Amino acid sequence: MSNKTDIVQAEKRAIELKRLLGKYDQQYYIKDSPSVDDAVYDGLKSELKKIENQYPELITTDSPTQRVVGEVSSGFKSVRHQTRMISLNDVFSVQDIDDWIKRITKLVPGSSDLEYFADVKKDGLACSLIYQDGVLVQAVTRGDGTSGEDVTSNVRTIRSVPLRLNVVQDRDQGLAEGRLEIRGEIVMRIADFKELNEQRAKQGLSLYANPRNTAAGTIRQLDSSLVAKRKLLFLAYDILDNADQSIATHAGVYSLLPELGFQGAEYAQKLKSVEDIHSYINKWLKKRTELDYNIDGLVIKVNDRKLYQELGIVGKTPRGAIAYKFPAEQATTTVKDIFVSIGRTGSATPVAILEPVVVDGSTVQMATLHNEGEVARKDIRVGDTVVIRKAGDIIPEVIKPVIELRPKTSKPFKMPSDCPDCGTKLVKIKQEDAAWRCPNDKCPARTQRHIEHFASKAALDIEGLGEKNVEVLLNNGLIADQADIYSLDKADLLKLDRFAETSATKLIKAINDKKQPTLPKFIFGLGIRHVGIQTAIDLANYFSSLEKLAKAELDELSAIDGVGVVVAESIVAWFSSPGNQKLLAKFKSQSVWPKDQSQSSGPLSGKRFVITGSLEHMSRTLAADKIRAKGGIFQSSLGKDTDYLVVGQKVGATKLAKAKEYGTQQLSEKQLLELIS
Ligand code: NAD
Repeated sequence: MSNKTDIVQAEKRAIELKRLLGKYDQQYYIKDSPSVDDAVYDGLKSELKKIENQYPELITTDSPTQRVVGEVSSGFKSVRHQTRMISLNDVFSVQDIDDWIKRITKLVPGSSDLEYFADVKKDGLACSLIYQDGVLVQAVTRGDGTSGEDVTSNVRTIRSVPLRLNVVQDRDQGLAEGRLEIRGEIVMRIADFKELNEQRAKQGLSLYANPRNTAAGTIRQLDSSLVAKRKLLFLAYDILDNADQSIATHAGVYSLLPELGFQGAEYAQKLKSVEDIHSYINKWLKKRTELDYNIDGLVIKVNDRKLYQELGIVGKTPRGAIAYKFPAEQATTTVKDIFVSIGRTGSATPVAILEPVVVDGSTVQMATLHNEGEVARKDIRVGDTVVIRKAGDIIPEVIKPVIELRPKTSKPFKMPSDCPDCGTKLVKIKQEDAAWRCPNDKCPARTQRHIEHFASKAALDIEGLGEKNVEVLLNNGLIADQADIYSLDKADLLKLDRFAETSATKLIKAINDKKQPTLPKFIFGLGIRHVGIQTAIDLANYFSSLEKLAKAELDELSAIDGVGVVVAESIVAWFSSPGNQKLLAKFKSQSVWPKDQSQSSGPLSGKRFVITGSLEHMSRTLAADKIRAKGGIFQSSLGKDTDYLVVGQKVGATKLAKAKEYGTQQLSEKQLLELIS
């Protein structure tokens, strides 16, 4: 239920968004020089659309969701379009496409088996070409959708625009007779764009933002000879013929385009079902960067042109077509709160809680802000609209706030002086450190992180012992440290709401299965500061037992390949702490102890391996585990004693040169797989 204050808030936000989007539109369409990434623009526009959907009374005719943006610049003659040049409704997920299909199917009775037609969405500027009796007479930009700019002399210089149409033989009434309008997109090829920017860099000129805006800027040049030099490309996607709708389908349009002499129909396809649409999307998600011009998504239309017309237009977009935009690495959202999270080693990290948003295909609702200095540098505040970035597995990052949308009452973030979990005063170990730390070894947050880390995949890999379960076990007093998890029994778990017979049995089994972990995983699991998985592997290779590592002295440790003085000091400090010694004794008393490294013997016994580059079939950690399981030794860096260098993908030249110098035998990933499987 919406109340009055909600509407007032929404209206205020809508006005701010419209103002800002209006500014971005000016820079993008009129000046051909965008000031923000498209994903940022799209994110803010989606937010505006959401508000307008919820409160239709807030829709105004000047909203960027309602009108095609653009204007006729003074240097060109204004031409009124015979048929309006509209835009397309953008969607950002396959779910949105499915919803669109459902809507269409509802609107058209008996249309459960509708045919669709899809094409790549060329990222350029829309242009309409008018042919009279087969001869190009006018070229007009989209402009504000109703009138555009007469750019005929510039468009004439584009080689892929036929000045005279080919005669289409197999039609009774030649299509090329009378008036014919061809619509398409003018793009700049990526290679031409790069070359242009390289030339500009050499001349000390400012660089252009992207091929799309450069193509648009070029078409608006008053000097046609300059346009000719830029080698633009026209890609056709529609025919508006005089005998209205004489071409029955979009597929028909696309088969005529090449016959008339146009490019642009190459990747379009007729799709007969929702499954076909999904596979077309999946195909282009993989191939999207393979073309020599940019595409920013896919266009899907109802194939039947009569039906397409009948479905009509809402605002500035047709109902019968939709633009699916490819997932972007950036998005906009708002910061709901900033809290300080205490890590395993006590580091106090500000974390932003975000309004959930989909970025690069996954939902993001939190992002680390790293440290106090970083928050201050970027000036990120609670209530801010922010631009965030995430690509693939990369941890989401807040890039910057959108200052124009900042609430007037917002205040800069202030780092708390005390640990939010135990109240201990936060400290900086060294003055120059970026991070504040909680120095309390017994801080409940630190204990929890230690246990989570110990059970995590890269460490002991105890399935079912994630953040939530660790928290519940700690809060109920069932565990106080990593070793305590081995004294849990099923009856303990069954007392808790979170567990039932099966889940309790499963967790106890998962814990007991990990009583004799491998040495590197156990060392890593102890959570010694600066000891990552690779250092743990190096230490295990060198010492081969935990007892030997525990007794090691600073000099010996810092001399090990891959272990420097800082790491060595941290290891010595860890093993000399009475609390940690007690923890190890507790593990031992429960027969929880890592296997000695030297115990593993097998066909690769004593052979030393290094992996360079990324592997296609398994992670490096898994490959290392498998090598060790066969008795081999996994090293982090290539030495004279290395027997094999496994060469994965994207390999640096220096490693290979070193292997040559040492005479190390090289193995492909396939050869490694044969050895370890
Ligand atoms: P649009 O360009 O995204 O989509 C509609 C257009 O797609 C049509 O007019 C047509 O010209 C074109 N198109 C390309 N291939 C097509 C095909 N195969 N079939 C049919 N049409 C095809 O819509 P729009 O409203 O003009 O522009 C919005 C876009 O501009 C968004 O992507 C937005 O990110 C970007 N933009 C960015 C900023 C910024 O500041 N970064 C500002 C404004 C707009």
